[in-house]
Amino acid sequence: MSAARSVLLTGASGYIAKHIALQLLEEGYTVRGSVRATDREHEIADAVRPHLSDPAAESRLRFVELDLMSDSGWTEAAEGMDVLVHTASPLPLEQPQNEDDIIRPAVDGTLRALRAAKAAGITRVVLTSSIAAVGESGGMPAGRIYDESDWSDPDWPEITPYAKSKTLAERAAWDFVRTQAPDMHLTVINPGLVIGPPLDGHIGTSLALVQRILRAKDPAVPNIGFALVDVRDIAAMHVRAIATPQSIGARHLGVSGFLWFPEMAAVLAARYPDRGIVTRRAPNAAVRMLAQVDSAARTAVPLLDIRREFTSARTREVFGMDFIPVDEALCATAQFLIENGLV
Ligand code: NAP
Repeated sequence: MSAARSVLLTGASGYIAKHIALQLLEEGYTVRGSVRATDREHEIADAVRPHLSDPAAESRLRFVELDLMSDSGWTEAAEGMDVLVHTASPLPLEQPQNEDDIIRPAVDGTLRALRAAKAAGITRVVLTSSIAAVGESGGMPAGRIYDESDWSDPDWPEITPYAKSKTLAERAAWDFVRTQAPDMHLTVINPGLVIGPPLDGHIGTSLALVQRILRAKDPAVPNIGFALVDVRDIAAMHVRAIATPQSIGARHLGVSGFLWFPEMAAVLAARYPDRGIVTRRAPNAAVRMLAQVDSAARTAVPLLDIRREFTSARTREVFGMDFIPVDEALCATAQFLIENGLV
């Protein structure tokens, strides 16, 4: 099916995008991966190479230099491509002081990518959004299960800059297609917190949590929870989307299950009993006190005791997905981090 198709993959140096590049190559696509700096090209090829079932597939991987904040090179990058998969977006470890530092690249970068696609006659687009664009709004009843019809409220006073960036970027994409490119077929992927083994040692922001548990330096863990999903499944959603017309014009949540942080620690403590992993739950008052001096605790405070659940029922149906269980994803992540000396 896909042998003749070519994909412009933005943010190819990313944790998720490397997996997407690998799966696209495995499916026979030609991939033009965008990087901010050309010295990252070897890193991506090196990460993908050991996993290719046919070494010759690497010849279908090429690179182009693009920055979300600059117009330079976008038109040429999109020329001759059949599909745009736009993953690039800032994902900082800690929320920035100035929200525009991440909102502008997210929103303006998405529009740059879509404008370039339109100019090049690309009509198939897959966009990486997030559940951060789905579940961050005020006044929701406890126990609500979020689905594709839910949107985060960018004007909610408690929304994080990251969630605002993803919400505004996804909205901008839908608005662009509706008002300026009605022929463009857009599919949106909204992953939960992505874990799972990376393809190389550049592990991305979301694995910092697993690293923190394995390092076992904290005396107790805060009661914050996460809707988790494996990176291999999220990459598969992006690749399957291209050839799944039923996915066009819709959002698709990618979530395998929910775990509290102490539950994540307990899974890893059972798997690695000799590492001294701390599973004790930190009292909320202690986390709040620590937040006065510790930025990670500050990030945790608004999430204490909040259980946000999401359903991926539509995704399972449209893509035929059977998500990797969260315990398995967590242990595979830990195994990678330990084996590669990253904890
Ligand atoms: P990542 O490893 O940090 O990848 C982010 C990618 O975006 C990198 O390739 C990065 O390039 C690129 N990028 C950032 N700012 C850029 C700029 N100004 N110009 C050009 N490229 C820029 O993070 P990831 O986890 O793979 O995330 C990929 C996508 O998935 C993002 O859209 C993110 O919002 C979304 N997502 C991630 C998660 C998660 O838990 N990881 C969950 C939901 C959604 P450099 O390598 O040069 O920095």
